[in-house]
Amino acid sequence: MRRMWLGLAMTAAMAAAPVPVLIVDGQNNHKWQETTPVLKRLLEETGKFRVDVATSPAKGGDWTAYNPDFSKYKVVVGNYSDYAGDPWPEPLRKKLVEYVANGGGYVSYHAADNAFPMDKEYNRMIAVGGWGGRTEKDGPMIRFRDGKMVMESKPGKAGNHGKRLPFLVVARDTGHPITKGLAAEWLHHEDELYDSLRGPAENVHLLATAWSDPANRGTGENEPALLTVRYGKGRVFHTILGHDVEAMRCVGFIVTFQRGTEWAATGKVTQKAPKDFPGRDKVSLR
Ligand code: ZN
Repeated sequence: MRRMWLGLAMTAAMAAAPVPVLIVDGQNNHKWQETTPVLKRLLEETGKFRVDVATSPAKGGDWTAYNPDFSKYKVVVGNYSDYAGDPWPEPLRKKLVEYVANGGGYVSYHAADNAFPMDKEYNRMIAVGGWGGRTEKDGPMIRFRDGKMVMESKPGKAGNHGKRLPFLVVARDTGHPITKGLAAEWLHHEDELYDSLRGPAENVHLLATAWSDPANRGTGENEPALLTVRYGKGRVFHTILGHDVEAMRCVGFIVTFQRGTEWAATGKVTQKAPKDFPGRDKVSLR
């Protein structure tokens, strides 16, 4: 009797062991006060994560007491940008990139790729970023032409987007744990399609692109939408999607974020493909 109870308890504990996640926020030119609770809920509703949030001081505040302990987590989700605010203090940025280099996970969510343009290692970690004075000096743009990823170095600013409209996301690797079993082409709900991101672009694996329409101030190129980066021993998942809570209703955003976070944390994805994942003709919202 007692042995059976212990066995059940152990099985339950093993199955339930959630992945600890830390979301960092506190400043952003986006409404992080609205998006962080959605990110947290999306992860928690899978039953696979336990999520804490570390909110920084407001712009111009006192940073001395803000020092999240990344080592208590398997993955950090970036919902912070100093685009219109304060860069993290240098020791904290260093602590984050060392945590990832030593095997931690990082998710660069939407505007997190605008953060810390001055920080070479942060930019190596996220591969490409936009705005903040980034230009060709910061690295090439990732393109997908004739069936393969290519780098383009021509001069110009980094970071642009048109109006928030629906657009097609096209998987470029359907065998990766994050994309496996999902539709290869799916219509994303109205969102910003970032284009012309630039950076070191090392150790990039391109999961999906979206065609940037010149009629909507775009480039006419297949822009990187979802990618992974190998940074030291760590795994990075970079999604350009999810400008606001409306865009975050898209099941394509939701599922790739949930899966990307699990993959960045563990290198595996144990989540099944949902029945309401969008196809190429119609958005699917929750
Ligand atoms: Zn945005």
